Amino acid sequence: MKRLALILSLAAGLGFAAAPEEFATSAGPLRLTPIQHASLMIQAGGKVLYVDPAMGSYDGLPSADYILISHIHPDHMAPAIVDKLRKPGTVILGPKTVAASVTGCTVISNGESKTLGPFLVEAVPAYNLTRGPAPGQFYHDKGRDNGYVVTYGGKRFYFSSDTEGIPEMRALKNIDVAFICMNLPYTMPPQEAADAVRAFHPAVVYPYHYRGSDLAVFTKALAGTGIEVRLSDWYAK
Ligand code: ZN
Ligand code: ZN
Repeated sequence: MKRLALILSLAAGLGFAAAPEEFATSAGPLRLTPIQHASLMIQAGGKVLYVDPAMGSYDGLPSADYILISHIHPDHMAPAIVDKLRKPGTVILGPKTVAASVTGCTVISNGESKTLGPFLVEAVPAYNLTRGPAPGQFYHDKGRDNGYVVTYGGKRFYFSSDTEGIPEMRALKNIDVAFICMNLPYTMPPQEAADAVRAFHPAVVYPYHYRGSDLAVFTKALAGTGIEVRLSDWYAK
């Protein structure tokens, strides 16, 4: 416990919430660092890829070879942080609505894929089925936003972005590691998230974007399924 506290405080000193997680792949290790909420950094094959760099501190973190942005909400898209992380040659991918605000963003839409160096990136749907600011409206409109499946060294990582347990998520195949959003009112409660995760059955799942959610509900709902739930503190200071 003391060691964990030390690692967490060291991590916080470097500007990110939790200690990095490392995954073995056929192309060597992939290191994933939770930064905050849905913001994270991947380092693999000598390249640095950020997903939704928007929350938390980026002081001391390396500049980006690649940046994936899921949608326009400020907890996912922060043009000033993108500018801080970019260098000549940085490739930025996002949906059309993101490209309207982020200079140099190449559009990738639901169903499209692109190769970024050693990474294969697939844009997948992310949207609300039922929840929105008013009847007939949704926080996330179908077709506007992207989740991402990133393949590296034969391992497939899924980042849900903001979504409910949509059919396209439930139909995902061969996901090794899934990062699943939960929180209300914008996405879904932990029970619903767990139900969707059961349907596509990743080997490992991490809750992220979970501020204020009861993670014990999520963990309990997946007990006995063979899906490994791993918890990382995405809000440590
Ligand atoms: Zn959102
Ligand atoms: Zn969000």
